[in-house]
Amino acid sequence: MKWVSHIALTGTIAYAVTADPLCTAAACVGAVLPDQIEGTPRSVGWRTWRSRHRGWSHWPMLYVALIGGLSKAHGHFFYDEEFFTALTWIFLGALCHSAEDAVCGKVPFLYPTQKVGIRLFTVGSFREYLFVLVCIAAVYIVQLVLQR
Ligand SMILES: [Zn+2]
Repeated sequence: MKWVSHIALTGTIAYAVTADPLCTAAACVGAVLPDQIEGTPRSVGWRTWRSRHRGWSHWPMLYVALIGGLSKAHGHFFYDEEFFTALTWIFLGALCHSAEDAVCGKVPFLYPTQKVGIRLFTVGSFREYLFVLVCIAAVYIVQLVLQR
């Protein structure tokens, strides 16, 4: 997915769940974190980028472990509640990124070398933006139903 799609969908989900601008902003940062870690073809060279593409930086278990580690450290190392919450939502945003990439290609799942996913659309295509629009509408409808 394009970054604009990751940010729009992840931000919508985070805001629907929390109604908190800080959590939403943190999730949007996390929504591009896996791609930031792997770099771009221009910054690291085509071969390096291709070998890293959707590799360990997109491994959901890494972010699950980081969230688990954060929750264990909560109260011991993090005395600033907002900082702890923002870090948690950055990693939740990265988890959303992996899930969103899994519908337009393959990403690691249980192991860093195991790749799973389906290709519902090509990255940057009209179908991608339509998919994101439908997902955002679904999140909005679910939230409306839950508020009743
Ligand atoms: Zn990605």
